[in-house]
Amino acid sequence: MAGISNRTKNLGTENAFVVLGEVNKRIAKGQNIISFCIGQPDFDAPKVVRDAAKKAIDSNKSGYTSSNGIPELRKAIAEYEGKIRGIEIDPDSVVVDNGAKPFITHSIMISTDYGKGDEIMYPNPGYPIYSTQTIVHGATPVPYNILESKNFNFDLEELKEKVSDKTKLIIINSPQNPTGGVLTKESLKGIADIAIDNDLWVYSDEIYQHILFEGKFESIASLEGMQERTIISTGVSKTFAMTGWRIGYIINEKLAKDFTTWVINTNACAGHVNQYAAAAALNEAGNDAKKMTDSFHRRRDLIVKLLNEIPGFRCLSPKGTFYVYPNVTKACEMTGIKTAEELRLRLLDEIKVAVLSDIHFGKKILSEGEHLRFSFATSDENIKKGTELIKEFIEKNSK
Ligand code: PMP
Repeated sequence: MAGISNRTKNLGTENAFVVLGEVNKRIAKGQNIISFCIGQPDFDAPKVVRDAAKKAIDSNKSGYTSSNGIPELRKAIAEYEGKIRGIEIDPDSVVVDNGAKPFITHSIMISTDYGKGDEIMYPNPGYPIYSTQTIVHGATPVPYNILESKNFNFDLEELKEKVSDKTKLIIINSPQNPTGGVLTKESLKGIADIAIDNDLWVYSDEIYQHILFEGKFESIASLEGMQERTIISTGVSKTFAMTGWRIGYIINEKLAKDFTTWVINTNACAGHVNQYAAAAALNEAGNDAKKMTDSFHRRRDLIVKLLNEIPGFRCLSPKGTFYVYPNVTKACEMTGIKTAEELRLRLLDEIKVAVLSDIHFGKKILSEGEHLRFSFATSDENIKKGTELIKEFIEKNSK
């Protein structure tokens, strides 16, 4: 039998998709599951988006596009994203691809060489693809901790100590998956100083920029001296409920040409019709995005209140995203359950409530205790019923 490479055998994954597969299998077998797993808005894509796509289909927008994206979309991105961040963006600094995700890989390829010991710093817990892609492409992932005690920010001294002469790229993500944390201006300034002093690139994953409940969105690219060394990465997936349309983009003047070369080498270009749909979203769907964020805001308040009513759960109120990351250490102690992962499996098996656990987002930080991740991109009814079932489960199993 032909073999499979070790790098594939050892390739990590995004467990949200794995658990989702498990959940879907159970649903297909007739189980009634309340799922808090999925990281995508539960709204329809805005009408202007669907109309623009229909128009693009009827105008036969069927061929390849330029690899960096159609000019109409890059112009819309430059205006929209520049305005939010208070910076000037040239449409030629923008590169579009099939979602924001491929740019994680492209950025690792651009900033490091295979097997040379180049290091990439990334948030832990964090989006798992940062480390899986770093490893498979022959660089060394160096996690820095996102701490509940710091309101889901990091310890700047720890981060400074971890920077070495091998560091090439610092990945940041704010608002953050899985904690819902938002980096303070002070944290952003701390990273900016490190990046400037050590001449590093910063990959700023800003995909949740609009799902923000307090204050104004702050990008590290807006800080002095940072636009040129920041790879702004964002897209329409979360803001406009367009995850399946697969349109994301980066913004960086110096690297746009290199990113385009990577797009040519991999996907050729993003979907043609979908690029028109994304341009319509940016140009015309601002009100739809606001309504969705308002709805997430309301649901955040509901789920935080209900989770804090469960014995042994402690849940900080996330400043952004549609995720909460409650600390369940006490609930585990009360029930004799060893870890958050064991608790997750029992919730799925015994009360048919699906969530993710801390081990799905990186190496466990023992001093931080046990955590679960809930996506509240689901109905009020599910939030009420799911949290009620968990409360009953903890009460019933407490020793
Ligand atoms: N970054 C983070 C932090 C995410 O949570 C996600 C999606 N779950 C992505 C990037 C990928 O976004 P896209 O759908 O645009 O590829």
